[in-house]
Order: sequence, then structure tokens, then C-alpha cells
Amino acid sequence: MKEIKNAEIICVGTELLLGDIVNTNAAYISRRLAELGISLYNQTVVGDNPERLKNALHQAASRSDLIIMSGGLGPTYDDLTKETTAEFFGRKLVRNNSIIDRLRAYFAETGRTMTSNNEKQADVPENSFVFVNNYGTAPGICIEDTTSGVTAIMLPGPPRELEPMFAEEVMPYLASRSSSVLVSKNIHIFGMGESAVESILSSLMKNSKNPTIAPYCIAGEVRLRITAKAKDKESASAMCDKMVEKVLETEVKNAVYGIDCDSIEEILVSRLIESGKKIAVAESCTGGLIAKRITDISGCSEVFLGGGVTYANSAKEELLGVSHSSLEKYGAVSEQVAIEMARGVRASLHSDIGISTTGIAGPTGGTPEKPVGTVYVGVSSEKGEYAKLLHLSSNRDRAYIRTLAASNALYAALGEI
Ligand code: ATP
Ligand code: MG
Repeated sequence: MKEIKNAEIICVGTELLLGDIVNTNAAYISRRLAELGISLYNQTVVGDNPERLKNALHQAASRSDLIIMSGGLGPTYDDLTKETTAEFFGRKLVRNNSIIDRLRAYFAETGRTMTSNNEKQADVPENSFVFVNNYGTAPGICIEDTTSGVTAIMLPGPPRELEPMFAEEVMPYLASRSSSVLVSKNIHIFGMGESAVESILSSLMKNSKNPTIAPYCIAGEVRLRITAKAKDKESASAMCDKMVEKVLETEVKNAVYGIDCDSIEEILVSRLIESGKKIAVAESCTGGLIAKRITDISGCSEVFLGGGVTYANSAKEELLGVSHSSLEKYGAVSEQVAIEMARGVRASLHSDIGISTTGIAGPTGGTPEKPVGTVYVGVSSEKGEYAKLLHLSSNRDRAYIRTLAASNALYAALGEI
């Protein structure tokens, strides 16, 4: 069979069309195909209906080297993928004795009785081969149709079966049928908008076909995905590295906090560990979110001392030593109070860095001078003290404002190391 260059996915299941379940199989398979450098051009969802599945197969076979199907391989009457696909490729179903033996063993092991319709799962199209299912009953099936040049792979619907089968058996098979791999690297950017990033990199983006550069937004951050296609992983990876270097030669560099990392907090904790510095946090509008995100990172106990959620003015005064007069004169959401909060938590826990948040997360509580989304991030360290005013969009919800406030505080802490 020829090399597989492009693929498409057909997921079978009326429950997908009704929105009862989310099509995670398509997302999973797409990611894995990208890793293999197999281009994916179409995803289709069809209900449990043989006629419509046949139409989908017809279209897919006319334009793709590989069709991957999920769902409808079970023993019940509505599971029709195998029958329909076998018919489409003009093949009879034949009973496979080694699958029967596996099924018997599987049922014995799980203490269930095997019914006659379970035996149906041992029927496979003639001249096909099987991907063994160690996680359930329905085997995966692969038809290599030499007449059309199309390869069709059928996999069971449940993700806890499909995903390990794909990783263990389908990936090696597909790798052997593809001569290129794709490698991606993600550049993580904070504090610079997507359009600003795009305008700085526009000519680089336009002129670069391999690797490609694609910006996308995630939780208030911009990421640049650099993807290279090459014969092997090492060459593709080297092509990505070169492009990363080119991006870092531009002013985007000033807003880059990491490459191929998980989050700002992950980078913050690792840089704190490297530098031997310790941090403490004083949170008002983020209500513990910053502490939560830092403590999500394993190893943080080396660098995170603790802090406080000081929501009421009295808590800000009593736990952090914020002055009564600052609260009266400027209000809790102010530059002065943010700085005093950061200073206070740093002093009382003897940390190198103190960070704070105070703001209006909404939807109520805004005023014309301080609308919803007004947040101050306070910083105190040996480098000095300051507060940064953020105008986080008031038409976004409370969760968004709090997440961005926390991200800004974590990012500000990075600058103090
Ligand atoms: P079974 O032997 O369990 O019947 P099957 O191969 O016949 O497996 P389906 O009956 O189509 O698969 O789906 C079984 C279950 O798998 C669904 O109820 C759903 O929970 C899950 N599932 C099916 N398709 C998908 C999909 N595309 N994405 C995520 N989950 C899915
Ligand atoms: Mg089923």
C-alpha cells in the first residue's frame, strides 16, 4: 500500500449529533495524526444510520488515503459500522476464531456471561487485520483496500478503549505508513495582545510555510504555535528551534515567559527554586486563586511560604498591617493599598517577594471612577515596590477577571526574581 499522506475521521453515533456526548475521540485522533505528520482535512459525524454512513464513506474514500472511524462496533443492533464498512468495500464478514477465544477469556476474567450477540464482535471483514482490544470487547479493524488505495480503520467508541488502542497499536502502524513527522513548539506570551504579536511577526508569518507560525489565545494569554514537517523528529525539532530563535530576535521577546511550558506558575516556581528566593501572597479579589495556582505546582513548598486572603478592610489592616488611613483616603482598590498589602505579607512572612491583588471582580460593585475590572497588582521585593493598574474588560465575567488578575500577579512576580 502507498504512503498515507492525508486522512479524515468519521465518528459514528446519534448521541454525538444530539449533543449528549462531546466528540473527544475526534480531538484525540486529530492530535495524534498531527504528531505523525498526516494531514487531516475533514471530520464527519454521522448518526447510527447505514445509509448516511455509506454516503460519508463514499465521500471520504474519494478524497483521503486514510479513513479513521470511531463508534458503532459494539454488539447491539444499532452498532452498524463494521457491517456497513465491509459492505462498502465489497467484503464479506467472516468469523475470527482467535477473537472468539479472546472474548471468552475476557468475559471469564470479568465474571460476566457471554451472549450470542457478543459473538458478532468476532466477525471481521475478509482480508482485514485486527487491532487487539485489551480494554474492552470490540476489536479494532483495518482494511487496506488495494483497489481504491484507501485504508479504513474502525475503532470502538469508548475513549478509555480507543485512546490506549490508538497509542499502542494504531500509532506504530501509521508511523510505518508515513514518511514524515510534525513537531510543534509553543511560545508562551503574556501582556502583549494577539494583534500586536501578529503585526510584529506578520512578514515572518506570511513567508514561512515550513515551519508554520500560528498565534492563538488561551485564558488571556497569547501562544505562538510553530510547526515543522520533516523526515524525522530531530530535523523537525531543529527547524522549530531555528524559528523560535527568529521570533526571539523581535520585540515579542520582551513578553515571552516560556517555551513549551505548562503555565506562568510552573515557570515562576522553577525560577524561584533556581534563584533560591521565596514568595508570599496577599489576595483580595483573587480570593486564594494565586496561592492555589502556585500550590498546583509540585515542588512549590521550597519557595512558597504562604499568605492570606484578606477580603475585608479589617483583615487587610489586622493581618497585613495596611494602614487605616490609606484605606480611608484611597479606598481598598488603590495603588497605595496594593503596595501596602504586598509589603505587609512580605514583612510578616520574611519572604523575598510579596505580591498582592485588590480589585473589583464584578458584576456589581463598580463605580464610574473604578469600574468592574479595575484591579491593582502590588509587588514588593528588594528591587522596589510598585502597583500595576489593570483595566480588565468589564464585559467579561467574574471568573475571567479573577483569572487574569491572578495571571498578572504571577507574571509580575517573575519580574522580581
Ligand atoms: P460499545 O461496545 O461500548 O457499544 P461502540 O464501539 O459500539 O462501543 P458506541 O456504541 O458508538 O461505541 O459508543 C459507546 C460509548 O462510547 C458512547 O456511549 C460514548 O460514551 C462513547 N463514545 C462514542 N463515540 C465517542 C466519541 N466520538 N467521542 C467520545 N466518546 C464517544
Ligand atoms: Mg455501541
